Amino acid sequence: SEKLLEVKDLSIHYVTEDGRIKACDGVNFWLEEGETLGLVGETGAGKTTTALGIMNLVPDPPGVIEGGEVYFQGEDLLKKKESQLQKIRGNSISMIFQDPMTSLNPVITIGEQIAEGIQLHQKLNRSDAIEKAKEMLEVVGLPKSRIDDYPHQFSGGMKQRVVIAIALACNPHLLIADEPTTALDVTIQAQVLEVMNNLKHEFKTAMLMITHDLGIVADACDKVAIMYTGKIVEFADKKTLFTNPKHPYTDGLFGSIPSLDEDEDRLTPIKGLMPEPTELPEGCPFHPRCPKAIDICREEHPEEIISKDEQGKEHRVLCHIYDSRYEHKFSDSAVKS
Ligand code: SF4
Repeated sequence: SEKLLEVKDLSIHYVTEDGRIKACDGVNFWLEEGETLGLVGETGAGKTTTALGIMNLVPDPPGVIEGGEVYFQGEDLLKKKESQLQKIRGNSISMIFQDPMTSLNPVITIGEQIAEGIQLHQKLNRSDAIEKAKEMLEVVGLPKSRIDDYPHQFSGGMKQRVVIAIALACNPHLLIADEPTTALDVTIQAQVLEVMNNLKHEFKTAMLMITHDLGIVADACDKVAIMYTGKIVEFADKKTLFTNPKHPYTDGLFGSIPSLDEDEDRLTPIKGLMPEPTELPEGCPFHPRCPKAIDICREEHPEEIISKDEQGKEHRVLCHIYDSRYEHKFSDSAVKS
């Protein structure tokens, strides 16, 4: 089937006083029409930078897109002019952020805000756009009668539904959602996710779901990319990743799935912290925390190893254990220990 989005070797650096930060470092993944990809990692792993890179919205300075390609419907977005990109953003690609207030205008009614995008991108007249806006409200589970209300008249979860209505009103091919439920409390999170899941089926919108929450991945995603210190360390079909995780970091994440009421830093229970981007260790950046690390891990950065899962889908992992040149070293160390 068709690749809707293909990110190839994307590298984005931030130039800071403490040095160059490789926030996104040779990232590769792709997404087919209608699929949802979960981009998972701790705060600072580079997820949001990657998403901004896809939209060509990396703040410059301090950000620099160092290299790579972002093919969307076969065309490289990084080669497009800003005017072309503006047409694509909010039309074929929409983005929702963690805090709904960053995308809602407090002094304009939500009806106007939903209708605005529809009018702009679908060339409908105002009254048809308002009608469509009402439909969108119902789609996200809000009553039509709230069309003339202002954002402050809604709760956090309802505001995020409005944001989703705005994002989906133009029927985008791709929705990028950056921690869309993190700012909400747990029950509301579940409701908003359900709305998103239903919409995905109804509109066949592909989604890039940025999250630090494996529960969301389990519920909503088809594929998963696990990110650590700016790199994708594992990429696989969701089922494969959940039943046969290969990277020790992914393993660690599964070992640390917390109870639902701990909503802070869900991914940190792995021993130690992700290193500062300016102080990455030699070799595999995960080695200080990796229970399986051996000498080679402290010396050499692993190469990506690509295999096929049971369904013949690609499973990629960035770890020496799966490198045929080094496999024996790991079994030797297992014998010794
Ligand atoms: Fe652990 Fe070594 Fe694999 Fe890195 S390369 S994840 S340190 S086993």
